[in-house]
Amino acid sequence: MLVLGGTGEARRLAALVPVISSLAGRVSDPRLPDGDVRVGGFGGVDGLVTWLRDNDISAVVDATHPFARKITANAFEATSRLGLPFLILRRPGFVQEPGDDWRWVSSVAEAAASLPGERVFLTTGRQDISAFASCSQWFLARMVEPPASPLPQRIQVLLDRGPFTVDGELALLREHRIDVLVTKDSGGEMTSAKLVAARRLGVPVVIVRRPPLPDAPVVATVEEAVSWLGTAGA
Ligand code: NAP
Repeated sequence: MLVLGGTGEARRLAALVPVISSLAGRVSDPRLPDGDVRVGGFGGVDGLVTWLRDNDISAVVDATHPFARKITANAFEATSRLGLPFLILRRPGFVQEPGDDWRWVSSVAEAAASLPGERVFLTTGRQDISAFASCSQWFLARMVEPPASPLPQRIQVLLDRGPFTVDGELALLREHRIDVLVTKDSGGEMTSAKLVAARRLGVPVVIVRRPPLPDAPVVATVEEAVSWLGTAGA
């Protein structure tokens, strides 16, 4: 069986079931899952089809980040062509509470065009930072790996990959006098502390909606994925 992605869910699944895990290779020092791991792209849908055949894969679980749209689409297409069972494992999105000032947008470009503040805590990751390059606001941009250019003119980069605590996030927002938080709806406990901190301080949040999923079965927990694997005969 192949598990795509290096998310916490992917790693927990790999700890329970013998699988080959596939990482994109974006992070230089990734947290490695248990078992066999391969790193790097497959070469599009055709490359993935060939790899799945050559490695005698019986089922594929896509446990990539909710915004890794291309690999999910490719895996759906490749498994459809081969008639292989395909499951999407996606942790639930963030949950808005009454009183939260969350402004939902459909893309990082839309977020960049509608910032309701001047001192921005940007947590969308290094791949999306160029969308903010022409913004005049000041940015505190947190990411795992250093960003590529182009960057906004006024930016402080913070390299960190968490997990983050509410107290730590409160201190960060206060220290930098943040007046708007920008995030993707990634979900997960590792990154939700910033939203709790924003809630406590009354900081507005610009939140990017998840891209749509292909027409495949979706589960939210590792336990459901394990039970699906049983029924899929993988
Ligand atoms: P993407 O746009 O969906 O994929 C771009 C290309 O990267 C794919 O076509 C594929 O290349 C390769 N790729 C992506 N994930 C792969 C995997 N697990 N194994 C092998 N190849 C993979 O992906 P992305 O947004 O660049 O994200 C790359 C990785 O970083 C994902 O695994 C994702 O879980 C993680 N990540 C993404 C985000 C985000 O916000 N997008 C945030 C945190 C972590 P080929 O076409 O050559 O096969």
